[in-house]
Amino acid sequence: MTPDLDVAIVGAGVAGLSAASVVRDHGLRVLVLEKSRGLGGRAATRRRGDQRIDHGAQFFTARDPRFQARVDGWLATGDVAVWTRGMHVWHPDAGWTEPGPGGHPRYAPPSGMSALGRLLGAGVDVRREAPVARVRRIDGGWRVAMADGSTVDARTTLLTAPAPQALALVAGATLEPGAAETLAAIEFEPVFAVLAGYEGAAPPPWPGVRVEGHPDLAWVAHDGSRRGAAGGRGPMVLVVHATPAFTRAHLDAPHDEVADALLRAATALAPWADRPAWRDVHRWRYARPVATLSEPYLAAAPGLLVAGDAFGSDRVEGAFLSGLAAAEALAVELGAP
Ligand SMILES: Cc1cc2nc3c(=O)[nH]c(=O)nc-3n(C[C@H](O)[C@H](O)[C@H](O)COP(=O)(O)OP(=O)(O)OC[C@H]3O[C@@H](n4cnc5c(N)ncnc54)[C@H](O)[C@@H]3O)c2cc1C
Repeated sequence: MTPDLDVAIVGAGVAGLSAASVVRDHGLRVLVLEKSRGLGGRAATRRRGDQRIDHGAQFFTARDPRFQARVDGWLATGDVAVWTRGMHVWHPDAGWTEPGPGGHPRYAPPSGMSALGRLLGAGVDVRREAPVARVRRIDGGWRVAMADGSTVDARTTLLTAPAPQALALVAGATLEPGAAETLAAIEFEPVFAVLAGYEGAAPPPWPGVRVEGHPDLAWVAHDGSRRGAAGGRGPMVLVVHATPAFTRAHLDAPHDEVADALLRAATALAPWADRPAWRDVHRWRYARPVATLSEPYLAAAPGLLVAGDAFGSDRVEGAFLSGLAAAEALAVELGAP
């Protein structure tokens, strides 16, 4: 029997939601299954009282005209703003490099990066808190087995979880020759993010700093500088990201130890960084792909595609474009107009 649903999409991150809206615009019936409560995946924002703090992606850029067109729409509605042009860089030996004039825009939604999930997911049917356990072939399509034992059948399925997680979902399924090996070869780097709030601290003179040549520290952002008019509300917040090397070495270390080490390192940029009023740690096990494949998606089996930021180009824009390309391929496969 042919399933009622045309496309099941696993993951409501940037790739899954951009794919879902394209598939829907082709008149196809689509359902997105997302394990967590929120939309946006690694474009993630945490709430603390009135404050919103970005602990995953920090900003995004747009180079492809298709993504730029979406960004221009969001700029027009005020959902997204230019956060900076260019970026401060700090190196322990070479010191500071200020951004030059004419740097290309780094965008951020003033209400937090998770707004991307809300914007891309508008009008898309998403089932939240719905972890997928397995995907397997059935007559006329694919059966998505949910962790709670229920199932969702669809003519085609698109996986957008980070490749190592996508691979686990298709364990036991018959794939195209080489597809499992291709997925297995995609490595992701882990990243620790420390969020720290400071009462009465003067805002630093930079919005964000890319740290180069430091063993532990990769990035420090003054989160409020992304918030537009709401930026001054609440205590000053720094977002500190570790290097993948530090994160790997401390993967299972107590979070207090991780926060102490990273905030101590951040005193090189902000001398008061190690004296926060509060702090939180988030571990991203799959933060960014080490390298990307040149294809914008993987055709793992007939009617089963894998997309996300490991395909084509990386980052938020790469995930968007990968979702778009996979959706167009599914529309062709399903004979949609
Ligand atoms: C710390 C950090 C900093 C970053 N900084 C930047 C930056 O400054 N600029 C930039 O452009 N990019 C940045 N990135 C990368 C950017 O966030 C990602 O490239 C992009 O968000 C990836 O989108 P995606 O849709 O491919 O994957 P994801 O966002 O990971 O979406 C996958 C979704 O699948 C869901 N999922 C996984 N398994 C299951 C399952 N079994 N069942 C149901 N759902 C499931 C997940 O919950 C998630 O919502 C950063 C990432 C991190 C972690």
